[in-house]
Amino acid sequence: MAINKGAKAAQKLIEEFGIENTNGYSIEDLIYARDIIFEEKKISNSDGRIVFGKTKTKISINSDIKFEGRRRFTLAHELGHFELHHNVNTHLEDNSLTLDYFKNGGQEYEANQFATELLMPEVSFRNFIERKKFSPELLRNIADHFQTSITSATFRYKDIGQHPIYLFYCRDRKVIYWDNSPNYYRRVRDITKLAPPEDSVAMEFFNDGIIYTKDKSVQEINKSTWFETNEYDSNDEYFEYAIVTKDFNTVLSVVWEK
Ligand SMILES: [Zn+2]
Repeated sequence: MAINKGAKAAQKLIEEFGIENTNGYSIEDLIYARDIIFEEKKISNSDGRIVFGKTKTKISINSDIKFEGRRRFTLAHELGHFELHHNVNTHLEDNSLTLDYFKNGGQEYEANQFATELLMPEVSFRNFIERKKFSPELLRNIADHFQTSITSATFRYKDIGQHPIYLFYCRDRKVIYWDNSPNYYRRVRDITKLAPPEDSVAMEFFNDGIIYTKDKSVQEINKSTWFETNEYDSNDEYFEYAIVTKDFNTVLSVVWEK
């Protein structure tokens, strides 16, 4: 994969500060080192924002963010805006960092790529997952190890992981976007902008509020749940792991084959 603009800026920053990677470092320290004003406060419907002033820049993070990994990823994302978009904008508000992954290109995508490389440098990431079998638990272990959100760990895995996966993002009972690992293609059913499939794990959340506990996060589904099938299809085993964010009424479904 060609190195993208966001990742490049992150590598430059890591080099500039002379650190091997940011694992164990606080992103706040990097923000302060850039002479940015930092605050945490309640922000409705938004994880974070950045305001570029004439002399000083201010980054605000929503104090209601529940998970440390998600907070840290948001911090890194805002720092990414500072490094990359300093002279382009006056103000950026971040409502859905997950959605931004799907919008290939653009400032939000770049800021996510920056945060991804800053928190999970490609080389360290590849080393960490080497010879580890894919599972939801592995995604959670990646998030724990690199102190980042499970969502960002999942997108990183989709791009450079060893086991190919599909990702489906649903909000308010609607499929918004889907994406897949490089060179892994299945014909997705015609569901974009429609309700997720009735027999999907995502739909179990929207219909019945079901959120599976960790030990039950691997749910068996059919190929036909998310994909087109034909008479030549064998009975391959497919699985779905739904990452639910109740506050935003969203589900990120991870789908894979044995
Ligand atoms: Zn942003």
